[in-house]
Amino acid sequence: MQALAERLDDLIAGKSITGVQPIQFSALKTFDPPPEAIVGHTVKRVGRRGKFLSVELEEGRILTHLSQGGRIDVEKPSKATRPKNGVVRFSFDGPVGLFIKEFGTERKAGWWILKSGVNGPLDKLGPEANSDAFAGFIMESPDRRRIHTLLRDQRTVAGVGRGYSDDILHRARLSPYTALAALTEEERQSLLTAINAVLDEGLQAERKRKGGLPTKLGDHWIVHGRNGQPCPRCGEELRRVSYESHEVAYCPACQTDGKILADRRMSRLLR
Ligand SMILES: [Zn+2]
Repeated sequence: MQALAERLDDLIAGKSITGVQPIQFSALKTFDPPPEAIVGHTVKRVGRRGKFLSVELEEGRILTHLSQGGRIDVEKPSKATRPKNGVVRFSFDGPVGLFIKEFGTERKAGWWILKSGVNGPLDKLGPEANSDAFAGFIMESPDRRRIHTLLRDQRTVAGVGRGYSDDILHRARLSPYTALAALTEEERQSLLTAINAVLDEGLQAERKRKGGLPTKLGDHWIVHGRNGQPCPRCGEELRRVSYESHEVAYCPACQTDGKILADRRMSRLLR
């Protein structure tokens, strides 16, 4: 998301908004100011907070959250079509268009128009992963939740997500079931090092992307989504634990002392 924000900043900073075309009306989470009120405003910069993209205007800002299936198409020039999977289209002088659309059946991408000084959904976000506040949390918190759970909790730390959580635990050689409170100081330090290294490498990889603006990363994960493939560090077959909404990938040899964790999907097949 950071790399996407950087690309969009290059594209639209300094340009003024010439049109806003809401396509899926439920995706706009605010009603005041109305979309037409931001037409004519100039974009100061595009940034990121957690998984939100923030388009900062002279006054106020537009926030977007792409969720799982959302993506942004750059249109040069801006089009006028209203495809079924469309969420909203912003037009800028240039002319350039940003068309937000969604894949899949779960319609969860959203956007907000916020007045100056209003944070909306950002109020609920925890610190950024590379902040001193989060480093202090990792080193000192008595939080008893599993590390994988708290890394995915946007109120604990903003913007990490599942893929990076898998890769971070693999890097730190920690089981997906490990609780933060159970770690020694040394393990906490190596977890913190792994968090910073994995996120930094992810950003470097994303910065190399060209062309469209996909939100699905995938091709640079170390272990996430690679169940059945060999561990890039030791060659052991990677395993997964499946949950309702996601799955956790890990290497038994590197992370769980060779133990295979029970997987619901597997036991359902065996039943
Ligand atoms: Zn391994």
